[in-house]
Amino acid sequence: MSSEQYCPFCGSSIKEGDVFCNNCGASLEETPEPTPVATAQQPTDFSYTNTQAVVVTPTKPRDTNIFVYVAIGCGILALILAISPFMSFLAPICAIVSIVCGVIGLSNKLKRNMAIAGLALGITALVLWIVLWILARFFGIRLWW
Ligand SMILES: [Zn+2]
Repeated sequence: MSSEQYCPFCGSSIKEGDVFCNNCGASLEETPEPTPVATAQQPTDFSYTNTQAVVVTPTKPRDTNIFVYVAIGCGILALILAISPFMSFLAPICAIVSIVCGVIGLSNKLKRNMAIAGLALGITALVLWIVLWILARFFGIRLWW
């Protein structure tokens, strides 16, 4: 704040902290300036918190939508990886990502069925990978590769 202030009533220069104007004697504590500033800030803050609340609400289902899509995508990918000859070691990673995202996606009411589908894909891929791994590791059985 600059020390150069002016009386709102007569316009003469006043010192900061002066209670009364030296020229016209008006009370400087009740300057008309702070009052409109305070009332102007209130609706601005109010609308700001309003827009914040509006913005926050729709981002929550969008976030779980991403988890649902990741669950299905990783579930399909895990199934493909589980039966692929060289990349099968990546299948459990994809399957676990799919299962975790599917569980998170269950909270999404609109896409709950898709989350369950992603979860089922992930579990199926994990079980398939484990069965194929046991067959190959302990029995030397390789089904189609
Ligand atoms: Zn004055």
